[in-house]
Amino acid sequence: MYHHIKQLMYTVNIGVPDPRFGNMLLEQFGGANGELAAAMQYSIQGINCDDPERKDLLMDIGTEELSHLEVVGTLTRMHLKPLKDNRHAAHEDPLIAIAGGGGVNLYNSMGNPWTADYLKITGELDVDLRSNIAAEARAKIVYERLINFTDDPGTIDALQFLMSREITHMKAFTAALESMGKPTFSIGRIPPTPGLVDQYFNDSTGVGDKGEPDVRGPWNQGGTWEFVHAPAFQALQSDVTGTRVPDGGNGAGAQSSSSQGAGRASQEGESKMHPSKVKKSPAQKA
Ligand code: MN
Ligand code: MN
Repeated sequence: MYHHIKQLMYTVNIGVPDPRFGNMLLEQFGGANGELAAAMQYSIQGINCDDPERKDLLMDIGTEELSHLEVVGTLTRMHLKPLKDNRHAAHEDPLIAIAGGGGVNLYNSMGNPWTADYLKITGELDVDLRSNIAAEARAKIVYERLINFTDDPGTIDALQFLMSREITHMKAFTAALESMGKPTFSIGRIPPTPGLVDQYFNDSTGVGDKGEPDVRGPWNQGGTWEFVHAPAFQALQSDVTGTRVPDGGNGAGAQSSSSQGAGRASQEGESKMHPSKVKKSPAQKA
């Protein structure tokens, strides 16, 4: 059950109202990464959650987000209030001025209505927790940008509080995910196809007009990675698994390809002629 206490989670005081900034603040009231979205996402995930320990976490944080909604709504209302009867202010946000009378409503800063489409609720606890970690990171960066766009000390105080709590939640969701003990890349129950899962497809190749490089890094080399250069021009290594002939392989892949798919030999021949295969960037040679 919910109960309202007539006290804000964080006391809000502002100096001179800034209607234009109030419009920006709506992003955290009725926007995609805002407090209502956070409150609904975690609370509804909690209703779906069969794990009583992490359900408690989801309900705790979902409820705190409702308190954040009240804080940011109060702060936004203070900045928007002049819109009701001040003609100059009304020009800063006509929708709020004319339709809303200077009050907050569930719109984002562009006047788009809040929508359940913002919510990420999969019914798979570890997948939901990953969404929540990302949601907290987004909320944090939006608060940071808002702080950078105001000089009002009271407004900054409230936003600093709200921003800090998002990192708190990010830490809690991360710890909850780790405490489930699932390997990082274990999602659901059906395992990915061996071989294919470790192939990195270098689908954007060459050097750009401004020197944009073709890069090797820990996201495509080392460990179990198998680098496949321009897979569109490579033959299939295995029709069964969908793997491609890896770049710079020792021939094992090519042998496998010729033994399993003789009909693709001509494709492989063509790919060997293609410039993208011949001309490599220095990064690739390294
Ligand atoms: Mn929040
Ligand atoms: Mn949060």
